[in-house]
Amino acid sequence: MTVSTSLDADRPLEAAEAAPERGLSMDTLLCHAGRHPEQHSGAVNVPVFHASTILFPTLDALSAKGEAKVRYGRRGTPTTHALEEAVTALEGAEGTVLTPSGAMAITISLLAHARPGAHFLIPDNVYGPCRHACTEILQPMGVEVSYYDPTVGIDALIRDETALVWLEAPGSQTFEMPDLRAIAATARARGAVTVIDNTWSGGVFLRPLELGIDISLQAGTKYLCGHSDVMSGVIACGTGHHTRIRDFAARLGACVGPDDAYLVLRGMRTLSVRLRQHHEAGLAVARWLQSRPEVKRVMHPGLPQDPGHALWQRDFTGASGLFGFVLHPVERPQLARMLDGLKLYGMGSSWGGFESLLIPTDPAKLRSATDWAPGGQSMRIHVGLEDPADLIADLEAGLERLK
Ligand SMILES: *Cc1c(COP(=O)(O)O)cnc(C)c1O
Repeated sequence: MTVSTSLDADRPLEAAEAAPERGLSMDTLLCHAGRHPEQHSGAVNVPVFHASTILFPTLDALSAKGEAKVRYGRRGTPTTHALEEAVTALEGAEGTVLTPSGAMAITISLLAHARPGAHFLIPDNVYGPCRHACTEILQPMGVEVSYYDPTVGIDALIRDETALVWLEAPGSQTFEMPDLRAIAATARARGAVTVIDNTWSGGVFLRPLELGIDISLQAGTKYLCGHSDVMSGVIACGTGHHTRIRDFAARLGACVGPDDAYLVLRGMRTLSVRLRQHHEAGLAVARWLQSRPEVKRVMHPGLPQDPGHALWQRDFTGASGLFGFVLHPVERPQLARMLDGLKLYGMGSSWGGFESLLIPTDPAKLRSATDWAPGGQSMRIHVGLEDPADLIADLEAGLERLK
């Protein structure tokens, strides 16, 4: 990362300048990345630029506007560029493309590599809307999609026509851990691009581009923002991949509002501090759940008993607050009594905010290549920033209501 001291506000910022400087710790990087007070009257934070038209003072300047960093609102403003720069530093990328949601970060990463006859490999535990985009957008375009068991890998399924291999670690809802290094190495050897959905790690606990993965996207809606009040997506592109993704997103007309970009950047200043708390509290709640007779199984790669634990230990520096567990079979009225009476856990979509959430899930209906028959009710929990002792007490009372 470069803490710029330049006074030239109009100088185009090259992607390479935003690369993380070796030796800066994650906490330090997150406090400084993307900030240029000298360009904004000394203000610590980048202002929120509301702009569509950008004016050029002379005919010559207008003629050269293609080179200007800021030339039209849809193509970015200092506010959105600051967020791009911060994510680029966080992920160690060549450059970052912002999207209005995590779902669009997914569809852009898929579509930028789609053409009739291409073959894509997708993990069977992929985030549901990614599977739906494959079925409803890619397959009708003539892209062939195969689903792989993330715990087995892609060696038996990769082909000459395989253009893209998708990764998610751990997978949505069931939290299996793939061997990221092995899958990335196979894909690279066969000329396929790899894309990882890195939302779970927040970009803090996993550095995919350093493992040989080409593109790392996140729902900025989740931990980057961290406050449950913004929709956002970010695509951090490894070397050689930025131009293609940026130009494809530009052709689609994807762009992000300045207030949303500002809030995501503001959330990022405390990202690593929040994630340390999510890590600690999540593990505390996971260990407690494991000890309960009502709980059949906990899916959390940070637990030594988890089948993905060794891979998690090898590649990750921490765990977020999102994991799964399976209750012994329960009837719906009992489950409703448990969930409806919780005081600290909300029920709703999304996660990654400061607050805890708990919902039942149905992973079996989002699978085609593997089975999910855990013999009980699957649940997904997000452990927020509350005191884990309070969270455990609320859950304990909830489990009692199952009786
Ligand atoms: C929520 C989520 C997304 C999509 O993000 P939105 O901002 O809701 O569109 C993508 N990937 C994963 C793993 C998610 O949990």
